[in-house]
Amino acid sequence: MAQVETENKGFRLLPAPSKFENGEVKFGDRDIKIGGPLPKLAQDEKLIRVTHSLCPACYRLLPATIFEKDEKMYIRKICPEHGEFEDLYYGDVGMYYKFDYWEYEGKGPRVPYVDLKSPCPYNCGLCPMHHQHSALVNLVITNRCDLSCWYCFFYAEKAGYVFEPTLEQIKFMVDQLKRQDTTIVIQVTGGEPTLREDIVEVIKLLRESGVRHIQLNSWGGTFAKMYMADPDKAVRYAIALREAGVNTVYMSFDGTTRKTNPKNHWEVPYTLEVFRRAGMTSVVLVPTVIKTVNDHDLGNIVKFAARNMDVVRAINFQPVSLTGMMKRNMRAKFRITIPEVLKNIEDQTDGEVTRDSWYPIGTSVVFSRLVEALTGKEQFEMANHPSCGAGTYIYIEWRNGEPHFIPISKFIDLEGLLEYFKEKAEELKEGANKYWIGMKLLYNVRKFIDKEKGPKDFDVYKMLYNVVVSHNYEALGEWHYRTLFLGTMHFMDLYNYDINRVMRCDIHYVVPDGRVIPFCTYNVLNDLYRDKVLREYQIPLDDWIKKHGENSLGDAMKYRRVASTLEKGEIYKETYKYFNE
Ligand code: SF4
Ligand code: SF4
Repeated sequence: MAQVETENKGFRLLPAPSKFENGEVKFGDRDIKIGGPLPKLAQDEKLIRVTHSLCPACYRLLPATIFEKDEKMYIRKICPEHGEFEDLYYGDVGMYYKFDYWEYEGKGPRVPYVDLKSPCPYNCGLCPMHHQHSALVNLVITNRCDLSCWYCFFYAEKAGYVFEPTLEQIKFMVDQLKRQDTTIVIQVTGGEPTLREDIVEVIKLLRESGVRHIQLNSWGGTFAKMYMADPDKAVRYAIALREAGVNTVYMSFDGTTRKTNPKNHWEVPYTLEVFRRAGMTSVVLVPTVIKTVNDHDLGNIVKFAARNMDVVRAINFQPVSLTGMMKRNMRAKFRITIPEVLKNIEDQTDGEVTRDSWYPIGTSVVFSRLVEALTGKEQFEMANHPSCGAGTYIYIEWRNGEPHFIPISKFIDLEGLLEYFKEKAEELKEGANKYWIGMKLLYNVRKFIDKEKGPKDFDVYKMLYNVVVSHNYEALGEWHYRTLFLGTMHFMDLYNYDINRVMRCDIHYVVPDGRVIPFCTYNVLNDLYRDKVLREYQIPLDDWIKKHGENSLGDAMKYRRVASTLEKGEIYKETYKYFNE
């Protein structure tokens, strides 16, 4: 894979990872079949669209129908060898159509990275068929982890090797991303990235290489562990990361109780305390939402974020992706999709964060295109599929010591505003005067804001005016600390896989052979992509231990929680005092 073969506009294409021969895809030592029958619909089912999906057993590429039944959407496919598979695709057909209206075609990567030899999704990437440039790129800097979660097959001891790219390899990967000539946003991930002793150096390298925004994906244990041993050292460590360039910490947080968040319930209070003292004030809480496990705790997660908004800026709810083969009844037990997550949030916030306040990620394209038309500079776009994700902003108002939530769509006519922006972008494209349109925008935006329904103690229009006209960003800072961004993304699995979605994926991984691979092929076809590339660049366990010592792997470095000690701390008690089991 490492050899380059052809030239394309000055960029050298890497060889495709597979080839299509005699009606089959040859991918490493696997032969993957293509095609199958188009599933039929029953009388009470209505076709929404046809797509392609995969057989969960053999990865065969299959035609699939997405249909409506009882106001929900399902996906069905039939593998000639392994039979029929059906799963919930989206829990509310009305929401699907609302979101679908905001569908935008992406610009595609400016340059593809690999030659085209096989159909999607066997040709990552990015290949010439891909519709989107990268928006957020994951960079795995280690597969070592101090936890050993039962569902994870990725950490070093389970994988049987260590993957830890060198600084030179990291630099090469960033250079590969620069080929897209767009804003580079990287999430440094693992394993547990903070186990790398040179992490500060890694972050500095990314910053010096031109990465605009750096996220650190951590379960947070390193900070809590350090805090328990030496609080000042923990704070110094977080400051060093922040000063090196970490903008945001992405932290798993599945619930507000021991039961809903067994992963880091005990450590989170201490981790947040470290961030608070270190001025690391942009934490994103990341709950994986599993039906019957923590889907009743989503409103509390929003309240938890509100109570910690001095450091928490956002929550990214991720409906579970069901990995591995799973029987239908088990899938039905755990499967939850974006509409049910939004409904639960609405119900569990006493109707305050309504489901109609959410918009698909693609609506951001409207802003990108307007700014592009106004400035003449090409803008970064997030034109992923409307079923992939959504977001909303909520303003937090405190009454009698309780947080209340006002979604911005309650006081800004977002739909009207988006349509207005679309119209102005079109006018600019047709040659209208930029200055004149800019003034009109500024004047007319007021009409879309309903002051009566908005926050009583904050003038949204004044803030917009100050930012745009006076370039005074003070109010924006205050706004930032009074609002939370709520997002959701439903990563796919083999049961609900939709090729239409992955072709427009903008969440990618960059890997040491120079490819850029969409998240939902990297992790879903993990043996074809993730494991294959990591194995290729592996460090055998014995070699690693020889170089780094016994304590850098295995039981010696695994985290051992002493829950009773953590629970005794005032910080723990204070953090959870509003949340009961
Ligand atoms: S997911 Fe994108 S990069 Fe991968 S094969 Fe499909 S179109 Fe190509
Ligand atoms: S990661 Fe998966 S869910 Fe997210 S944009 Fe890509 S295809 Fe869609």
